[in-house]
Amino acid sequence: MPPLMSARVSPEPATARGAATSAADAPWRVPLSDVVITEEDLAAVMDAYRSGWLSIGPRTAAFEQAFAEYAGTRYAVAVSSGTAALHLMCLAMGLGPGDEVIVPSLTFVATVNAIRYTGATPVFADIAGELEPWVSTEACEALITPRTRAIMHMPYGGHPGEAAALAALADRNGLTFLMDAAHAVGARLDGRPVGSLAATAAYSFFANKNLAIGEGGMVTTDDEDVAQQLRRLRSHGMTALSWDQARGHAFGYDVVALGYNYRLDEPRAALGLARLSRLDAENASRGVLDARYRAGLHGLVGCALAPTEGTQPAHHIFTIVLPPGVDREAFRRRLAERRVQTSVHYPPAHRMSIHAEQPADLPVTDEYARRTVTLPLFAHMTEDQQDAVLSAIADELPQA
Ligand SMILES: *Cc1c(COP(=O)(O)O)cnc(C)c1O
Repeated sequence: MPPLMSARVSPEPATARGAATSAADAPWRVPLSDVVITEEDLAAVMDAYRSGWLSIGPRTAAFEQAFAEYAGTRYAVAVSSGTAALHLMCLAMGLGPGDEVIVPSLTFVATVNAIRYTGATPVFADIAGELEPWVSTEACEALITPRTRAIMHMPYGGHPGEAAALAALADRNGLTFLMDAAHAVGARLDGRPVGSLAATAAYSFFANKNLAIGEGGMVTTDDEDVAQQLRRLRSHGMTALSWDQARGHAFGYDVVALGYNYRLDEPRAALGLARLSRLDAENASRGVLDARYRAGLHGLVGCALAPTEGTQPAHHIFTIVLPPGVDREAFRRRLAERRVQTSVHYPPAHRMSIHAEQPADLPVTDEYARRTVTLPLFAHMTEDQQDAVLSAIADELPQA
């Protein structure tokens, strides 16, 4: 198997690089996702290493402050991965055994695992429609019981989905509204960062996400107590960090909670901060490519996640839904033969052995998961690359 994604150092564009490396050496003509690391990014990382302070410190604090501002919340707490962010979010909201959390099954399995880490029970809700693959408010409402504590939204593909209606539903029923915002960095609803609609939101900076730093995550909240708990839980439940001690701000510490080591380190925080300044521009180029896919695929396949009234999606992924009866694996194989990489987001969580004992009747999720294909999308994808995907699809599908 070729690697999932590659990272390149710009400013050399993809086409110029072809001269140095034979095109046949590259596993994919069009990879699913790709990251450009600029010279400025590298300089920021080098500065972090040269400073001699490697673990959590001033660059992490600066990244947190910039991210909180960007995400429209008072606090942001940096952690070592999106999964760590989800885990701490669930813990800080006090979830535990006996609690039920309503969650989409059409998500990366970490969303659901994080609920289970706390001993709480995930309750799977269906999606709104085949081309609206976000969790349905109506489906969530039907699953509320006296044990329900929270609703966990996941803005699939970076589309806000029904975030506002879900927040209102949670509010009406005295439930906590949580968000796995791994796809949604930069997504807005009526001009407001979508994660700020939740009591707490968890972000991922994994290598294939819109704001990629390798491994890393962030939890956002407006609640000072929650932010304080998150900071303690990410560092063994200790009341002081070694950074505080190094600055002479603390001489000892207590351990007041059963915490973890989920800290981010300085080089990756520096990379995150450098890349954050380009994120809106990169999301905008994803948006242009998204619209160009829609125009090119019109009448051939269903395109999910169309921007709706008031939404500004983050365009994390572009997914299509094949006509019924098309053999998806054969379709993906033929695209791979033309060196176009595809994926499936996601094999649903309720079909995973680990979560199979949770009862779930999710016909729309199952149908979507059978027929969806994720096409390549990344900020610096060229029109030539996109045309290669479009013509491969046109050749493979019978005209509707
Ligand atoms: C990537 C992702 C995660 C996990 O994030 P990591 O940083 O890889 O731990 C969780 N949920 C969703 C929806 C994701 O896409």
